[in-house]
Amino acid sequence: MNHIDLIQFIKKQYPKKDNVYLHEPVFNGNEKKYINDAIDSTFVSSVGKYVDKFELDFSKFVNTNKCIAVVNGTSALQVALKLSGVQSGDEVITQSLTFVATANAISYNNATPIFLDVDYDTMGLSPNAVENFLIANCDIIENKCVNKNTKKIISACVPMHTFGFPVRIKELAAICKKWNIPIVEDAAESLGSYYNDQHTGTFGELGVFSFNGNKIITSGGGGAIVSNNNDLSIRAKHLTTTAKIPHPYEYAHDEIGFNYRMPNLNAALLCAQLEMMEIYLNDKRDLANIYSKYFEEKGIVFRKELENTRANYWLMCVEMESKKDRDLFLEDTNKNGVMTRPIWKLMSDLDIYKHCEKDSQENSRKLVDRIVNIPSGFRN
Ligand SMILES: *Cc1c(COP(=O)(O)O)cnc(C)c1O
Repeated sequence: MNHIDLIQFIKKQYPKKDNVYLHEPVFNGNEKKYINDAIDSTFVSSVGKYVDKFELDFSKFVNTNKCIAVVNGTSALQVALKLSGVQSGDEVITQSLTFVATANAISYNNATPIFLDVDYDTMGLSPNAVENFLIANCDIIENKCVNKNTKKIISACVPMHTFGFPVRIKELAAICKKWNIPIVEDAAESLGSYYNDQHTGTFGELGVFSFNGNKIITSGGGGAIVSNNNDLSIRAKHLTTTAKIPHPYEYAHDEIGFNYRMPNLNAALLCAQLEMMEIYLNDKRDLANIYSKYFEEKGIVFRKELENTRANYWLMCVEMESKKDRDLFLEDTNKNGVMTRPIWKLMSDLDIYKHCEKDSQENSRKLVDRIVNIPSGFRN
């Protein structure tokens, strides 16, 4: 297949760029104004009005009771897992097709991931795969889900909304409820994505977001934990701020906490970015429609949001017919100034995680060979 026409078409969407990247951040709102204000106030570090403002604005945006701003998405996941009850020696179900942070956050809690397959259409954790695994391998003993093979407790399940396409979160929640497994949603990629009109990240006990530079909005580095459970939210704030007992001048700490609070300087950037969300989301949706029409005419599958969901189109994807086609596409585009990228390697294929329990991963493997991310950033 000749990709010249396709490369020119993608470049045409970004007329001001010589090289088109996957997802560049854009700062054309109040970013500089708010950052200057934070500097002038001298509150650049871990307390300040922008942190408070962000936490409020964000919980409104995703419609959740509480939001706790932290230093990055990975640490948000680490703490959310701990709060959901994951203890040293436990096991946690997640998908093999994910960014390494999902698995690492499980490891930071001295727990072991179990890598299950994704649905082919959502690219996220498959309710069938989870149910099949639980029925074949687990019992409920004293209200806990126990893996009969390892005798370990499965204390959480972490679905991830791949590239902003929502997983079947309602089905997953129903299955996990039956087995007494709390859900921690890795919504790092799905800010602005909805399942049945409810924002992703708000279905589980806790949800987690990332504001790294390549995400839909950025604080440089940053993350958030959200929850509708007040006790968990209070614990999340406490644990991410060194577990300091509130007092005007005394320093006492009632557990070994983390210094994971988002600095006010980063929150200033993030508040300005959050104001731009609707504009970014609308522009990405327009671009997705343009791509969709073009690729359909070319006979290439462009991934669209599924029924009952609204995707943020964070990273848009095309699906090649074979690994060979994929490799040609990657080579042609990257050589000609259009950045494209294959999906991650499966976690269960990495040396660091290949000892972990897993299922067939049939869909995950097919997707890894075929899916390519194409430039998806805001076109300013
Ligand atoms: C970006 C991302 C994270 C968190 O990343 P940070 O860089 O730590 O903010 C976690 N999980 C997934 C799936 C991600 O894409």
